[in-house]
Amino acid sequence: MNTEELWQAVLAQIQLNISRANFATWFKNTKIISKNEGELIISAPNSFAKEWLEQKYNKIIFKILHNLDGEIKELKYIIGKQELGEIKIPKKTKITFLPTSQLEFPEFKIDSETNLNPKYTFENFVVGPFNELPHAAALAVSKNPGFVYNPLFVYGGVGLGKTHLLQATGNEIVKNFAEKKVKYIPAEKFTSEVIVSIKNQKMENFKSKYRQIDTLIIDDIQFLAGKEKTQEEFFNVFNGLYEKNKQIIISSDRPPKTIPALTERLRSRFEGGMIADIGLPDFETRVAILKAKSWERRVDFPEDVLNYIASNIQKNIRELEGALNRLIIHQKMTNQPLDLQTTKSLLKNIIFNPTKIVTPKKILQVVAEFYDLKEKDLLTSSRKQEYVYPRQIVMYLLRKELKSSYPFIGRKLGGKDHTTAIHAYKKITKEIEKEKRCEEEISLIKQRLYNNI
Ligand code: ADP
Ligand code: MG
Repeated sequence: MNTEELWQAVLAQIQLNISRANFATWFKNTKIISKNEGELIISAPNSFAKEWLEQKYNKIIFKILHNLDGEIKELKYIIGKQELGEIKIPKKTKITFLPTSQLEFPEFKIDSETNLNPKYTFENFVVGPFNELPHAAALAVSKNPGFVYNPLFVYGGVGLGKTHLLQATGNEIVKNFAEKKVKYIPAEKFTSEVIVSIKNQKMENFKSKYRQIDTLIIDDIQFLAGKEKTQEEFFNVFNGLYEKNKQIIISSDRPPKTIPALTERLRSRFEGGMIADIGLPDFETRVAILKAKSWERRVDFPEDVLNYIASNIQKNIRELEGALNRLIIHQKMTNQPLDLQTTKSLLKNIIFNPTKIVTPKKILQVVAEFYDLKEKDLLTSSRKQEYVYPRQIVMYLLRKELKSSYPFIGRKLGGKDHTTAIHAYKKITKEIEKEKRCEEEISLIKQRLYNNI
């Protein structure tokens, strides 16, 4: 057995033991590059794949190899040749930047036909338990658009990778099927296209443009909430494409059933496909993401620095990137290796942000926004059901999260009696127990409250 066959045999067995998503992320473009006596060298495409293999998969790789070839006693991992030039970052290096020619970030141009940004790929999308399902679904869609999960509906909080995943899927479809017409569009932009087309009496153009699409990707669909005309047009576009087995991919910050003012027929269309949510990344994945991003930027930070960021920023990958960017800029300016002390002081504004503290005002604001209402609607005495329920949610959260007194809660909500507050708290507590939907809404609202979105 030559080394290539040997590695194929290993991969075949590994594939049976780990999830498809993990397999695709960590074993793509790996190979054995040499076998010398008992020592085998395995190459990985980048530094985080290498580390991941070393730390998480070494045991199983070794076991399989050893079974296939008893001579093998030791495994080593290295970073293989990259398309971007061979770049190796030794672990504890003091030199933090490579020569400028390699420092430049490749420039990414948004494709004017598809609206896709080539910087979003599956290769640079880190997979962990929190996004394994949507990743696997998106990957499957990219191999067989229109026929596996249609529509694919991905939801999750802000900054957790929805846009990245959707765009990566689009880019992959373009790569796999050159003839397919892919179009990415944020729902807000879709809405303004509808409005402009109606105004200029160009609806026919609009419709015929969307009829020609093979894969339609709509980002942040929650923006269609309450916009009936746009929803109607979207419904027509959706049906037209769906009937012809064209792929539709949608993202939202919440599941279809909790998008306010979404017409029933759209909701049931969304629920007819695959719904996959992106949760919150665990610590290990957060570190892996930081490593991946550092690698992309050709910077190397000490382990304790990355661990510090990952321990303190937990709910938003965009914020993780923001923190890393700040360190990179500092590094660039001072050209000094970074230590933990400096890191802490550089990041103190990001990590200890006073706006993160939850206040009654913030609860009002977040709940109003969640239900697409104005804050003042929550303070009235209107008995309209669309106000009553969100208002009770506000009272519930004031009690539950801030331990406010009932008289205080009553006053905060436009001078209501404390018994109203007690009633609201009890009612929502009960509702959470018996209604999955209520529980889900509260958890999404809390995410926004603490995640500062
Ligand atoms: P969302 O659309 O959910 O608000 P984005 O897709 O814009 O979030 O992600 C925010 C940032 O975090 C982007 O720069 C994206 O590349 C990065 N990011 C998110 N998820 C991942 C991931 N799993 N691996 C690598 N980078 C990620
Ligand atoms: Mg987004």
